[in-house]
Amino acid sequence: ATPTAVMVATGIGASNGVLIKGGDALERAQNVRYVIFDKTGTLTQGKATVTTAKTFTGMELGHFLILVASAEASSEHPLAKAIVDYSHHYHFFGKHSTTKEALKMREDFLTDWLLETSEFSALPGRGIHCLVNGKMILVGNRNLLTENGISVAVEAEDFLVELESNAKTGVLVAYDGIFTGILGVADPLKREAAVVVEGLKKMGVKPVMVTGDNWRTAQAVAYEVGIEDVRAEVMPAGKADVVRSFQKDGSVVAMVGDGINDSPALAAADVGMAIGAGTDIAIEAADYVLMRNNLEDVITAIDLSRKTFARIR
Ligand code: ADP
Ligand code: MG
Repeated sequence: ATPTAVMVATGIGASNGVLIKGGDALERAQNVRYVIFDKTGTLTQGKATVTTAKTFTGMELGHFLILVASAEASSEHPLAKAIVDYSHHYHFFGKHSTTKEALKMREDFLTDWLLETSEFSALPGRGIHCLVNGKMILVGNRNLLTENGISVAVEAEDFLVELESNAKTGVLVAYDGIFTGILGVADPLKREAAVVVEGLKKMGVKPVMVTGDNWRTAQAVAYEVGIEDVRAEVMPAGKADVVRSFQKDGSVVAMVGDGINDSPALAAADVGMAIGAGTDIAIEAADYVLMRNNLEDVITAIDLSRKTFARIR
């Protein structure tokens, strides 16, 4: 392709909200063989909502939700926000009539209802722990509890399997060393996700999903979106290793992520695509920035490269 063709393609990209960082990036995209998608916030909307909560020790649900929200109030994770919101709505349901009042009440909820915590610590890829009422609370996935020698109650297993089979993430809670309850969190797929996955397959590109979430939930989401190749329970640092494992045979690999936990993977990929608002590190690490937060632009980007470099296959 001539420099002019590259400039034209870059312009076409930009007018579609596809920012391409240079001619090399544009050229590499034509040969992409694997597109690895991050799950949360990339294939899914990244808008987690708690759909159900249950205790298994006889602890009153309202009290349980206060304990968990108190712990999660210090976390930045999308799951944490969903849990604090749910606890707020559980306690304040029907008690405010306007949005303004509701927002004010959220502040009141955080300051007046939630309990003081100390020794908060985020455990990447697993969850959080802290002290509340002087006792240790653990909030996270099954691995977090297992690592702390806490086993899940038998009657909770069915509940958890049911949630996870329905593509929901089960958040497990242990308080004072005892398994206490579970919250189910849903994060719907982006509307275009399945069509884009299908489109890639038609182009001869293999879609892959990578996530820190548990295997059962990951499989359920992958099935819904039409992806057969899944890597689950991957620690944040492990996502770049997944990229490298696909590059081993010389394949050109694209990684699509929102930059939360996946910037090293974006940097490791031959073609890193940051989607959505993207964090600053993601934009820095990526070769493409997909401004519209629409997965169709993954196809736009590959198409543009193929057309510019006139590869007919
Ligand atoms: P993803 O790859 O889907 O973006 P993360 O690596 O951020 O996932 O997290 C992996 C898993 O760790 C989550 O699915 C969840 O089970 C657990 N987790 C992480 N942070 C939290 C938190 N603040 N509260 C509860 N669970 C959490
Ligand atoms: Mg993520």
